[in-house]
Amino acid sequence: MFCYQCEQTAKGTGCDRFGVCGKDPKTAVMQDLLIYVSKGISMWAHRARKLGVIDHDADVFVVEALFTTITNVNFDSDDLINMIRNGVRVRDSIREKYLNACTAKGVTPEELDGPAVWQMPEDEEAIEIEAAKLSIADRLNDPGKDITGLEELITYGLKGSAAYADHAQILGYEDDAIYAFFHEAMDFLTGSNSVDDLFGMALKVGEKNLAVMELLDTANTGTYGHPEPTEVRVTPIKGKAIVVSGHDLKDLEELLKQTEGKDINIYTHGEMLPTLAYPGLKKYSHLVGNYGGAWQDQQKEFDAFPGAILMTTNCIQKPKDSYMDRIFTTGLVQWPGVPHIDDHDYSSVIEAALAADGFAEDAPLKKIIIGFAHNAVLSVADKVIQAVKDGDIRHFFLVGGCDGAKSGRNYFTEIA
Ligand code: SF4
Repeated sequence: MFCYQCEQTAKGTGCDRFGVCGKDPKTAVMQDLLIYVSKGISMWAHRARKLGVIDHDADVFVVEALFTTITNVNFDSDDLINMIRNGVRVRDSIREKYLNACTAKGVTPEELDGPAVWQMPEDEEAIEIEAAKLSIADRLNDPGKDITGLEELITYGLKGSAAYADHAQILGYEDDAIYAFFHEAMDFLTGSNSVDDLFGMALKVGEKNLAVMELLDTANTGTYGHPEPTEVRVTPIKGKAIVVSGHDLKDLEELLKQTEGKDINIYTHGEMLPTLAYPGLKKYSHLVGNYGGAWQDQQKEFDAFPGAILMTTNCIQKPKDSYMDRIFTTGLVQWPGVPHIDDHDYSSVIEAALAADGFAEDAPLKKIIIGFAHNAVLSVADKVIQAVKDGDIRHFFLVGGCDGAKSGRNYFTEIA
């Protein structure tokens, strides 16, 4: 295996034996293969689109595959093999549609190779051997570090965008131009490109990512209203409990609906914290506050949490035995041996929460204020500008992104 896609990477150069995140070598190569097959889908989908053929399965698959391979999402190699198998089916279907469109329009079809026609072996060992051939480490020698680094930069940019596009899609918000770009960029990555061309595409990925974030913002605020400044409790209260991590708002909403009237308190964790400021979510009185700190503190915090734990999006770390019987994954998140929730059926999460002790008493009250999203800030823009003009505001601090797990990466915490 070789992976250097995140800041946790071993020695700052690459995980080559086992992922610092907990990713094992088989999972790592299967993720590489999933991206390879997705490129094959995009090669056909990109060309089919030019002939007016749009395949929603291909669009969603590529976005989900990119999202699946982000750090701390899917650690289950068996699940990844199933996804790859499904990806080959999706690829062959869009290829067929492309060929039919060519025939209908009297166009000579392009002959494609590589991921566009790769055949998946039946035998799992053979799949692993095929997957290992795609190692980034080999590409660092040929075509070299610069080309490979730029190709991977583009890939990781697409992966991040895909997570946002997927969350928007779940809420029913999609944009054909965004799907078209994912295919264009993935198809581009199958070619031999110069540093200049790759650099240009990397910038384009950044530009398109803004459009994707805008789409997700429209999806979140269109569904749950604009976040508003809100006081949030950050200490537990007495009673049964479920903590939700990640940032899939739909998952949280469905859990809130299913736990209504069941005397279970719901807490956010890590990146789920901002959801407490959305009117459509904070209206649930049993969404009582936030538990714990950043994602990297989860093993200690979940160990001490006397309830069920639901992991959405991209924050899971190797679960400790102490809470293995009360942690669940949903969406694209998977960990071998951890029960996976499909179709928002949270009955087993609720059962686990009711079986656990819950908090025995209220902890001393402590609150923070959140909810300063763009709508809240812009609604007082005139006052802020006036305060700057009057000399009452002389300095702005931008807090963007999250702290890292390593010491020294606590800049935002210190500032806040
Ligand atoms: S995703 Fe995991 S395996 Fe890859 S660089 Fe990060 S820590 Fe290492």
